Amino acid sequence: MEQEERIRVLQVSSLIKTTPYGGVAKEEFLNGAMEIETLFTPEELLDYLHILEAAAGRERKEHWGDRTLDLDILLYEELVQWTERLTIPHMDMANRTFVLKPLAEIAPYAMHPVYRQTVGMLLDELEKREGIQGKR
Ligand code: ATP
Ligand code: CA
Ligand code: CA
Repeated sequence: MEQEERIRVLQVSSLIKTTPYGGVAKEEFLNGAMEIETLFTPEELLDYLHILEAAAGRERKEHWGDRTLDLDILLYEELVQWTERLTIPHMDMANRTFVLKPLAEIAPYAMHPVYRQTVGMLLDELEKREGIQGKR
């Protein structure tokens, strides 16, 4: 990523080990988040992420199956966009601890432009909800 001059990496979270979601993948995932500054539009950035995934040997087989690398756009400033190719903020981020945890490490005050809550608040709420479900 650092070789691309239209992208500057600002922050990188630690990597968190996660047991797979959705029942398709078998191996554990490592999840992390990164903050970048970029001259790319969201669509250009998505194209570039796909190049990086392909370079990491990713083949597109089953959705949510095992993969070598999955790069998603979570937030793009406070842009809200809902097109066939690209949903920003990422559709399911508020329901995924493995997304919010690393993201909260680097950007706890980043605002989710649809829910109007910060990443830190979304993580707190999700952990509360999961805590309640866990006790049932
Ligand atoms: P999920 O989106 O639930 O995390 P996934 O990452 O496994 O699933 P992929 O197979 O990697 O899904 O991506 C399928 C398509 O999702 C991509 O080709 C892209 O067009 C689309 N997409 C929509 N919104 C985004 C986004 N915010 N970031 C990355 N891809 C997105
Ligand atoms: Ca994903
Ligand atoms: Ca993806």
